[in-house]
Amino acid sequence: MSLETLINIVSTESDESTKDVLICLNKILDEFGTNPFIDDDINEISTVGVLLCEKLYSDGLLQVSFSYSCNDLDEETESLSHNCKYCGEVLHESIDYHDVTRIYKFSRTSYDEILEYNYILNENKYFIPELYRNYDNLVNEIDNVVPFLGSGVSMPFNLPNWEGLLRGLEDFLSEEFHKKYYNELVSDGSYFEAFDLLLEKSMNVSNEDQLKDEIVQVISQANMDIADDEHNISDLIKLNSHYYISTNYDLIFEHFLTNEDGYNTPVCMDEIGNLRNISTTGNKVIHLHGHINRKSSMVVTKKDYSKLYSRKGILVQLAAILGNKSLLFIGFSFKDKFFNDIYDKLVNILKTHHYIVLFNPDLQEIRELNKKNIKVIGLRVNDGDYIDAIRTLINFIVRKVN
Ligand SMILES: [Zn+2]
Repeated sequence: MSLETLINIVSTESDESTKDVLICLNKILDEFGTNPFIDDDINEISTVGVLLCEKLYSDGLLQVSFSYSCNDLDEETESLSHNCKYCGEVLHESIDYHDVTRIYKFSRTSYDEILEYNYILNENKYFIPELYRNYDNLVNEIDNVVPFLGSGVSMPFNLPNWEGLLRGLEDFLSEEFHKKYYNELVSDGSYFEAFDLLLEKSMNVSNEDQLKDEIVQVISQANMDIADDEHNISDLIKLNSHYYISTNYDLIFEHFLTNEDGYNTPVCMDEIGNLRNISTTGNKVIHLHGHINRKSSMVVTKKDYSKLYSRKGILVQLAAILGNKSLLFIGFSFKDKFFNDIYDKLVNILKTHHYIVLFNPDLQEIRELNKKNIKVIGLRVNDGDYIDAIRTLINFIVRKVN
């Protein structure tokens, strides 16, 4: 019987949805892996669990053995048709005084089979059939791909994206017509112009330093206390890229990298010249626009921005580090002018194709990006499962590469 049929049967017999049955199965897998567990453990997870395990057992996907006690002596057996080691009675005829407990265990093979089933189910859910060529190309080239992380990646930590950051500073403008123009600039994706307007017209945030202080304050309030399945940082680390580029000011990625493979210092653009061997120095993340621990590095205004990108040397150095690598943009929206601007600048120095992860892209968007040599890695998301969708993509890459 296929796993799909099995789940359908459990669903019919228990009156639970197939979705809930699958969730229960995954909880059991997550919790116990290939370790033994008993009925009481399953009952803690879900009421449908025991029935599910029975079906998995009859289908050969789950191993069952038994533990029993006889006059306070404990023993295990493969089958209840065996005799008690101590009193000699056949166990299934004497269950009453042997206190029998079932012990379940997934074999490595069944465990992998169920994982595989889940992967494929998720791929079918999030992947767009017309784009399989792009997914496959990305997998084939992954050693030559540098992830480029945008604000979307940090949002699960309760940080705003660019737009949200700017909207949050609106109250620093006192005149209504300034607010109105400010919001138009933000809606338009003209983020640096909006920052400039703020500096020019606000009574509280009147110089760059004060503006950066405000931004640092927002960004440093990242909520790091969220569960692993609520963000994609650990998934992105699994890509095991030599380095990552980011336009984010926050240091969330470094935080997780440091936990996984030792101390990791962020790198700003003005430092990359000294880092020829960036991949061997414990510096994995290049912050194109600086980060909150070095306020002077932060690119916040049009002036900062022009200064950064007019320094030809810096882009040449970045190009030297990136070589012929392709970029994989994650956590960006291609609709904002800001992104397109950076992309055009980078693309001039990186003459190759790139990839971008986009949710629910339309055909026209895909075509237009393709003209710019950007292959769309589209993910179909209906109910806000952005994190699960990206995790599915990364699992797909990691699985195919290994
Ligand atoms: Zn006995």
